[in-house]
Amino acid sequence: MFVQRTMRQAIQAHSAISRPSVYTSKVLSSRFYSSVVAPLDASKLEIHPSKNQKKLQENKDLVFGKTFTDNMLVVEWEAGKGWGTPQIKEYGKLQLDPSAVVFHYAFECFEGMKAYKDKDGQTRLFRPDMNMKRFNRSANRIALPSFEQDELVKCIGEFLKVDDRWIPKGRGYSLYLRPTMIGTQESLGVGASNKAMIFVIASPVGPYFPSGFAAVNLLATSDKVRAWPGGTGDAKVGGNYAPCIKPQLDANKEGFQQNLWLFGPDHQVTEVGTMNCFVYWKNEKGETELVTPELDGSILPGVTRDSILSLARQWGEFKVSERKFTMKDLVQADKEGRIIEMFGAGTACIVCPIKRIHYDGHDINVPLDPTDKTSQAGKLTKRFNDAIMDIQYGDVQGPKGWSVVV
Ligand SMILES: *Cc1c(COP(=O)(O)O)cnc(C)c1O
Repeated sequence: MFVQRTMRQAIQAHSAISRPSVYTSKVLSSRFYSSVVAPLDASKLEIHPSKNQKKLQENKDLVFGKTFTDNMLVVEWEAGKGWGTPQIKEYGKLQLDPSAVVFHYAFECFEGMKAYKDKDGQTRLFRPDMNMKRFNRSANRIALPSFEQDELVKCIGEFLKVDDRWIPKGRGYSLYLRPTMIGTQESLGVGASNKAMIFVIASPVGPYFPSGFAAVNLLATSDKVRAWPGGTGDAKVGGNYAPCIKPQLDANKEGFQQNLWLFGPDHQVTEVGTMNCFVYWKNEKGETELVTPELDGSILPGVTRDSILSLARQWGEFKVSERKFTMKDLVQADKEGRIIEMFGAGTACIVCPIKRIHYDGHDINVPLDPTDKTSQAGKLTKRFNDAIMDIQYGDVQGPKGWSVVV
């Protein structure tokens, strides 16, 4: 019985999106042969908005992830039934059983994306299809159910209409969205969760660098590892993040803002804090090259990373590479004066310039803008930032599907 149930759950979790809702594999016992599983369906959305309208904060007072809008979007899933009725309701506490698997075995994954107001007052999302695909992939990695991604985007669109007044206006301001999926089965058994919940909450945010860029100091970290081959580094699962906080606090104590996460005996460069890592340099062959680690399973496939690579390839002005590189390569490039710029990339900041890396008792000083001694960001770093922002705010038409009006 137990085996049958987990098998059915596993199959549903892995098949709901890519297969029709009536599962017809002969592999399954006849008992499960024609179980109809409800897809996530935006047309069923129920809206019961909060009667209380909280006071909005002024743009200048916004702090990342501290204030939330009046409402939230919630939809629950049950094995054998599928997705329930999506609901927009008052933002508030969830009631979960203390035995819910999310609390014990970290059945949790999430997304980070933003809604932007353009100059015509329309609300835009940036490449939401990429976030939804990744959300499904992360859920799949921890045996949580798949969902119909376009339907969730539609529900988020309605949520944004209901909480429209919370989307701050002005360049650099946005409404940060946090789609989250948790396993809610009430059981201490270690197995696939037979219940799950997606919720989406939203927080108005200001520019990551309110008074212009501030380049960061990194501590190259190899004694603790963020991700490893065959692990979950390429999934946005909660379990990846808590273990990185202690090393970050240790780095902070020594005056570094972030860890530069290394991997393996050759100290491969992987990510910066919770951002993807880019180096712009003259490589060993003397070519001008933008390089970021390849997606080998331990690198989080960032939407910003992908956007930067696409823009750079479209510009066609320098070599663009996704490949491994090590601290040895960086140290050598530093000695020979070949490093031009380095930056981290992610939705929260778009780009975050890097000015120094402490590694093996030495500092690598990364150039910022040699033509402007006061500048806290390199020219290319700034150019990516501006190009992406222009598209996010609808000022420039980007590639198809990048900026979606909701
Ligand atoms: C979310 C995240 C990123 C950046 O992804 P974006 O989609 O660009 O926001 C990079 N690295 C890690 C570890 C992350 O969690």
